[in-house]
Amino acid sequence: MAEEKNLFKIAQLQLDEAAKFLKLEPKLHKLLREPMRVFKANLKIKMDSGKTKTFSAFRVQYNDARGPCKGGIRYHPEETLDTVKALAAWMTWKCATVGIPYGGAKGGVVCNPKELSILELEKISRAYIRAFWKYVGPDIDVPAPDVYTSGREMAWMLDEYEKIVGHKSPAMITGKPLALGGSLGRDAATGYGTVICIREAAKHLKIDLKKSTAAIQGAGNVGGWTAKLLQEKFGTKIMAISDSKCAIYSENGLNVEKALAHKEKIGQLHGFMGTKCITNEQLLELEVDVLVPAAMENQITKENTRRLNCKILAEAANGPTTKEADGILKRTKIFQIPDFLCNAGGVTTSYLEWVQNRMGYYWKLDEVNSKLDEVMTKAFWDVTNFAGKNKIPMRVAAYALAVQKVAEAMKLRGLA
Ligand code: GLU
Repeated sequence: MAEEKNLFKIAQLQLDEAAKFLKLEPKLHKLLREPMRVFKANLKIKMDSGKTKTFSAFRVQYNDARGPCKGGIRYHPEETLDTVKALAAWMTWKCATVGIPYGGAKGGVVCNPKELSILELEKISRAYIRAFWKYVGPDIDVPAPDVYTSGREMAWMLDEYEKIVGHKSPAMITGKPLALGGSLGRDAATGYGTVICIREAAKHLKIDLKKSTAAIQGAGNVGGWTAKLLQEKFGTKIMAISDSKCAIYSENGLNVEKALAHKEKIGQLHGFMGTKCITNEQLLELEVDVLVPAAMENQITKENTRRLNCKILAEAANGPTTKEADGILKRTKIFQIPDFLCNAGGVTTSYLEWVQNRMGYYWKLDEVNSKLDEVMTKAFWDVTNFAGKNKIPMRVAAYALAVQKVAEAMKLRGLA
């Protein structure tokens, strides 16, 4: 049978496994298998060439029983509604896992940012808000950055929203630039949260990170910060890091800061001094203590799982591991930090940003990071202890805890 690669089907199968463990009422299980609301729009944009082009856009609000919906917006040429639905489901479980008072959502635009000018990207971002502004807002649904979007897009979106509603509303979106009410620490937060999980996993497994090696797939916001912080905070040797073109490898370990500066300068990691180029597939199979898939989904599959050679698999990307791969992983000694726990640092600091926006009072970096650390550390041990106690895989444990919380909120509201 062909391996399931549809992310939404994978998300549903994962939920089914947790529902079975929890003996979840069938009615509730059925409700949680589907998103609550799905919005679609066609964004008509006048391109730099003068021609008009239409881009499909989505916003999926998966569940809001625990609070306003929350989740990023991706710009990707291969975006599909099913992908957005899966990512919105994972946001629901992610917010519940770390205990922040949000439901889950996700947005997407089918476009290739690499082929768009800055003006075209601005038009798409503003058009996205014009299409969905009624359905977002500080108490309704709070977007944020994701793959190929950043503070720049958030600034355009905030500006468009405020123009429409006629007043300032910084808490309607997170991951904003500091000058528009963003939070210190938000930029690094997903990587920071991943590193906190790796730190705790290393304690759990009695691994000394100072004497350890790591390979990072992805050099975007998440991969870049994870690599940098692992090296800076713990002295972990980073053996390889990749972008979409190639992975650079050095048997002596590489200087992450310099490698990222090289990428910034010439647009790719390839050619960074003292490294050789390997493929993304080879990177995943390197013998390292910590492997961090921090790029796209469906990277760890039934085909390559048996060749993984790591002790800790820190899933910093959303959905990097297929269901079949999970099945193989649970029979190995690899300690898996499931995606919606591992990468929850981003949304946790988004929450701290939203809180600061609503107070109109802003914290210092140390304060933000220590709150993030507290939330992530607690979530890590909640999941790890639950998995240990019940002898179930980490992903099933994370799901069980999260689904229980969402189910409780639904029952209290009389929704189930
Ligand atoms: N896009 C990030 C994620 O997948 C952050 C979401 C947010 O900050 O709302 O977790």
